[in-house]
Amino acid sequence: MNIHEYQAKELLAKAGLPVPAGHAALTVEEAVEAAKRLPGPLWVVKAQIHAGGRGKGKFAELPAEAKGGVRLAKSIDEVEANAKEMLGNTLVTIQTGDAGKQVNRLYITDGVDIGKEYYLSLVVDRATGWVAMIASTEGGMSIEDVAHETPEKITTIAIDPATGFMPHHGRALAFGLKLTGDLGKQAQKLGKQLYDAFVALDCAMIEINPLAESDGKLMVLDAKMSFDSNAEFRHPEVASLRDESEEDPMEVEAGKHDLAYIKLDGDIGCMVNGAGLAMATMDIIKLNGAFPANFCDVGGGASKEKVAAAFKIILSDPAVKGILVNIFGGIMRCDTIAEGIVAAAREMAIEVPLVVRLEGTNVAEGKAILAGSGLAIIPADDLGDAARKIVAEVKQAA
Ligand code: GDP
Ligand code: MN
Repeated sequence: MNIHEYQAKELLAKAGLPVPAGHAALTVEEAVEAAKRLPGPLWVVKAQIHAGGRGKGKFAELPAEAKGGVRLAKSIDEVEANAKEMLGNTLVTIQTGDAGKQVNRLYITDGVDIGKEYYLSLVVDRATGWVAMIASTEGGMSIEDVAHETPEKITTIAIDPATGFMPHHGRALAFGLKLTGDLGKQAQKLGKQLYDAFVALDCAMIEINPLAESDGKLMVLDAKMSFDSNAEFRHPEVASLRDESEEDPMEVEAGKHDLAYIKLDGDIGCMVNGAGLAMATMDIIKLNGAFPANFCDVGGGASKEKVAAAFKIILSDPAVKGILVNIFGGIMRCDTIAEGIVAAAREMAIEVPLVVRLEGTNVAEGKAILAGSGLAIIPADDLGDAARKIVAEVKQAA
C-alpha cells in the first residue's frame, strides 16, 4: 500500500525527522489558506499523486513549456496561480504511464534554499531478509540512473534486525554521504530515526529523494512510503491513509474478494491460480501472437464465489475479447473448480469465447463436468493447446 507525500511526511515528522512545514489542499482556496499559514517568502506547490518524477512531469492539458508537478512560488498570488493550473489536470510522469494521473490534491510547503541534494532510502532486502539502507551523494535524480551511471556513489548498509540501527551504521551513513562535523551527526541521528520508523510502521519502503542540506540543516524534502500489506491489521492509523482514488478501481474490487488482479494492455482475460502460472500463461499467450488483458489470480482456495467474482472483474473490462482459465488443481480439486466455473459462467452469461485448461487432482472428473454443462466452454489439454485455442478464437471473432 502506498500513501501520499504529505502523509509520509506527517508520519516522519512524528518520528522526529526534520520536515518542512506544509499543509494539504483540495481546492485553490485551501491552497491559498495553506500558503497564508506558512511564513514564506518561498513556497512549494506539489501535486499529490502516487507516482514519482513529478518535478520533471508534464500536464497533459497544458502547453509543453508549462512547469511540472513541483513548483516554487515567491508570493501567495503565485501559489494561487499554480494551484489553479495544477488542480484537476493530468500529470504525466515517468512513473504514471502515458495516461498520467489526475491531480486532486496539492501539498503547499515551506520553500527551502537547497545547498545540496542527497538520496536516502530503506527497503527490505530479500536476499538477506534484513533492512537495507541505501544512501547516495547524488540526490534529486532517480537512483536507478545513479546505479547505472555511477554505482560507486551508492552506499548500501545492511542492518541486522537483532541489533537494530547501531552507531556504526550511523557513521557508515555519514561517511557514504560525505558528511562530517555537525551535518555528519545529523545524518547519524536521522538514519536511526528513519530505521526505527520503518520497523515500527512495518514499511516495505521509505525513499527520501531529495534529502536536502539547507543552511547547515538536513531536511526531508520529498518522501515516498509504502507498507507491508500483511501487517496492515496492526496499523489502523496507516490503513486510514489509503487513497483508493489513486488505485485502479478493478484492483480495489479484486482486493475485496482476496483476488490479485493486474490490468494489462491486451485482449485476453486470464484466470489463473498462483503467480508462477500467471507468468507462464502470459508468456505462452504472447508466444502465440496475442497479449493478455489482465491476470486475475484466484489463489489456492478458489471457491465458487471467488471464481464468480473473478469472472465479473475480468468481464467488466471492455478490452477483454476472450477468457483463458488456466488452473492447476492441487489442494483444490479440479472437479470443485469445474463446478465453480460452470456455475459462474451460467450466472454471468459469458458472451466471449472461454477456454479452460485444468490439470491436477481429479482432472478427468473436472473435464467431465465442463463437457456435460451444455455451455460453450472450449476444453484444452495443456498450456500450449489452451493458448493456441484462445488466440485463434479471439482472432477469428475480430
Ligand atoms: P519528484 O519530482 O516527484 O521526485 O518531487 P520532489 O519533491 O523530489 O521535487 C522535485 C525537485 O524539486 C527536487 O529534487 C528539488 O530539486 C525541487 N524542490 C522540491 N522542494 C523544494 C524546495 O523546497 N526548494 C527548492 N529550491 N527546490 C525544491
Ligand atoms: Mn523526489
